[in-house]
Amino acid sequence: YFERVLSLYLILYAEDCWLLQVKDITQTDRLDSMRRDFVANVSHELRTPLTVLSGFVETLQEIDVDAESRKHYLQLMGQQSTRMLSIVQDLLTLSSIESAPPPQDEVVDMATLVDKLHRDAEALSAGRHTIHLETEGQGDLLGAESELISAFANLVANAVRYTPNGGTITLSWKVSPAGAEFAVQDTGIGIDAKHIPRLTERFYRVDRGRSRDAGGTGLGLAIVKHSLSRHQATLEVTSKPGEGSRFAAKFPPSRVSGV
Ligand code: ADP
Repeated sequence: YFERVLSLYLILYAEDCWLLQVKDITQTDRLDSMRRDFVANVSHELRTPLTVLSGFVETLQEIDVDAESRKHYLQLMGQQSTRMLSIVQDLLTLSSIESAPPPQDEVVDMATLVDKLHRDAEALSAGRHTIHLETEGQGDLLGAESELISAFANLVANAVRYTPNGGTITLSWKVSPAGAEFAVQDTGIGIDAKHIPRLTERFYRVDRGRSRDAGGTGLGLAIVKHSLSRHQATLEVTSKPGEGSRFAAKFPPSRVSGV
């Protein structure tokens, strides 16, 4: 116990008097290690597409490739650049949320927002899924609109990403005196219970290859968690492998106008 809590001792002797200073650096150590892990993760995530990109650049420079292969290589290079751009974009979103002042009580018109999310889901799905929208009760959210949009849009994008063709995705917005809930339910691949507590960690993915192939960055749910907790909201996840998942953002009555 003492080893864990009292991590630093500084003993001074001055004028016949011993001074023992004890400082708890456990928290500092933990933050340092989290920062190191984060930097290592970011470097690793960016190194992979960069390695592929520089490999293709070398090939194009050294070998006399025909027009068709050149087009193919350029297409693959384009995919890797898009991937890096998405990672950097998500990192910037995370850092802007982290450094932003607490969200003000801006009224977010939820009828318009859920309607837009519904249309976005249809555009992302491009006819591969059936998309439903359910609403219940009246009321809007109070908070930072851009943060709430990026949280909800991430849940919608994941449902589309992890639901095979032919599946169903249901968006719902419900307001009651107990608060409000925005939820996305899918009939997708589902998640084994052991992964659920770690889903909001940066770069945590159940299946790295699948996430990457589907255009994921591993940062979406970290963005969701940060945006929600800044609005005193929580993320509730229920899922069954092979059957589907439900991600629900739950807001307290203090964040809802008109209840
Ligand atoms: P990613 O960019 O990889 O989707 P997220 O942070 O958004 O990263 O999600 C973390 C992981 O949680 C995903 O890689 C995936 O394994 C899992 N996940 C998220 N949403 C769903 C979902 N609707 N169905 C199944 N798995 C999901």
